[in-house]
Amino acid sequence: MQKLVFAGKTCKSIIPYLTEILLFMTILLKFTLFSAGYCTQSEYISRRGGFRTIQFPATFALIEHPQLGLILFDTGYTPQFYQETRRFPYSLYSKATPVYVTEADTAQAKLLAQGISTNEVRYIIVSHFHADHVGGLADFPQANYIYYQPAYDAVSRRRGLSAVTKAFLPGLIPPDFVTRSRPFTSVDFHTLPAEYTPFTEGVDLFADQSLIAVKLPGHATGQIGLFLTTYDGSYFLVADACWHSQAYREDSPPHPITRLLFDSWADYCHSLHQIHMFHQNRPDVQIIPTHCGETYVTRQDV
Ligand SMILES: [Zn+2]
Repeated sequence: MQKLVFAGKTCKSIIPYLTEILLFMTILLKFTLFSAGYCTQSEYISRRGGFRTIQFPATFALIEHPQLGLILFDTGYTPQFYQETRRFPYSLYSKATPVYVTEADTAQAKLLAQGISTNEVRYIIVSHFHADHVGGLADFPQANYIYYQPAYDAVSRRRGLSAVTKAFLPGLIPPDFVTRSRPFTSVDFHTLPAEYTPFTEGVDLFADQSLIAVKLPGHATGQIGLFLTTYDGSYFLVADACWHSQAYREDSPPHPITRLLFDSWADYCHSLHQIHMFHQNRPDVQIIPTHCGETYVTRQDV
């Protein structure tokens, strides 16, 4: 029988070392949460019971992949939001959602402050196409864009009032966006292992199990969330499937007036319930809503 050598030891079987081997094979990522500007809204927009005006940080995530390099999940706002909302009907957007962002707040500036140039970002995963998630797409000239095709199809041809009602500002989309895109479609979804329950299907974005996208529709057509495992734990980035962590903890949708903002209230409640159930099953996974001030302050990133 041929001798097996693992970790400097001769052994007859690899079975006692399976845990070490699997850990060795797992691609561990590094994850950092930043904010790029914020908007203000009444608290009841994010959770029931609050009536103060509060800040909603527009967070984005930097994911460092040991082989693929730097990946962003969304980009937050940039001052281009002000240019794109100067004229009617796009001005309705800035009136409904007061936005606060300076050049120093942008994803580009936040990364530069960490010694990272814009050319180093290889991929941007777009959860959905609302302006607070795609504001910085044009600032990363070497990045490929990854998203669920129905999310872009739902907004790409909209202009004027039709775009504003979907929180879409066409001017934020770079001219070469489609050329640099690597979207996925319904055929790319595969069955997920039981550890993701109640999520049953997802897309292994880089075919290495490092980043798994799942559907979280309701807030916007084709919105996705992202699972990742890092050196310091596992995360589930849920974008705008809920705005406050209290909502998924209690399975409590926001004030009914927010129905006016959502693509589908029924889908929104279903996605929120799935996140709630996942949290019950896997309390070890930290859930990150894009705009939850509580989560952002707790993480104390940049
Ligand atoms: Zn948002």
